[in-house]
Amino acid sequence: MRLNLFKCIYCESVGHIRAFLVKLVQFLRRNWLRITVFVTFLICVWPNRYAPHYPYIPTDEIYDELVEKTTQNVSHQMAGKLSCDYNEVIKENHFMYREPYISTLLDGSDIRLGGEWMPSKCAPKFSTAVIVVYRQREQQLNAFLIYIHNFLRKQLIHYRIFVIEQYDQKPFNRAMLFNIGSVYASQLDFPCLILHDVDLMPMNLGNLYVCTQRPRHMCSSLDKFRFNLLYHGLFGGVVSIETKVFQFINGMSNKFSGWGGEDDDFYERIKAKNLEICRFGPDHSQYTMLKHEQELPSENRLAFLRNGSLRYNTDGLNSLVYKEKEVKLHKLFTHVLAIT
Ligand code: UDP
Ligand code: MN
Repeated sequence: MRLNLFKCIYCESVGHIRAFLVKLVQFLRRNWLRITVFVTFLICVWPNRYAPHYPYIPTDEIYDELVEKTTQNVSHQMAGKLSCDYNEVIKENHFMYREPYISTLLDGSDIRLGGEWMPSKCAPKFSTAVIVVYRQREQQLNAFLIYIHNFLRKQLIHYRIFVIEQYDQKPFNRAMLFNIGSVYASQLDFPCLILHDVDLMPMNLGNLYVCTQRPRHMCSSLDKFRFNLLYHGLFGGVVSIETKVFQFINGMSNKFSGWGGEDDDFYERIKAKNLEICRFGPDHSQYTMLKHEQELPSENRLAFLRNGSLRYNTDGLNSLVYKEKEVKLHKLFTHVLAIT
């Protein structure tokens, strides 16, 4: 009797399962298109679809990773003065992207012609050349200059802003302009370069604009990508690199005219020399990107990327050819107009 009852329950369950599976298959067959669209949508909006969990320097180790170096004239001028303290800036990590820092240049009287600044109350431990590549984005440049001077002066570093403008009608060559910028920065003895897009605004004051022992990708938490890192090898937007390291890897390629590829090639160059990159944590690396139309990707970028390694030693700083149209010293920046 008990056995029969068990058999009966068993048969019924198998029957139910079979019926359920048949219905499921029918449902999938009828709705495959809707399901595909729904799953694609889910993947697109899924917050963890990028690489948000990347290795980074913990906040309490940041200070030890920084390369303390200034230009010679600063070290002479500051001899005997007490050093500035950076631990607080890193630890407190104030959120800066708010009024009035965004819209108004706050007391610009202490900024020197050419867009150079250094603290007067303490001796800075860092000198940084911020190199901004530029063409025909006037509104963005104005917004950037106001904000970045307000932001950087709070960090108590010595810095100078270089805007390298491509003064010709050829496709924009971001990497070549960075190479050109590095020439001017190194002539003025800057030991640290920050290679910067004009449309990226750092939000966290603890994101110190100085060099780390390893080249650093500084904008790993970008609002355009919902504050996620797109992929681990991303090395564009804003990066810091010691001038001597930039020279050691022969700078960036001059071949990438038009949008795309040059940042990946740069990353490969660094790896080819057995160097590692680093990042600060997401809380220290937030940026907002000013709105603009997406540029058309260049057609040959993938081909250049594929065979880039053949050219690391011959294409870069050592093959850089350009014409200097003019160098102007403005109140907020040193303006280099270059014909590529
Ligand atoms: N850029 C520019 N004018 C141009 C194209 C590019 O000034 O016509 C500079 C600018 O600094 C910009 C950077 O190159 O931020 C990278 O270009 P874009 O912003 O178009 O690239 P994406 O936002 O796709 O990274
Ligand atoms: Mn952009």
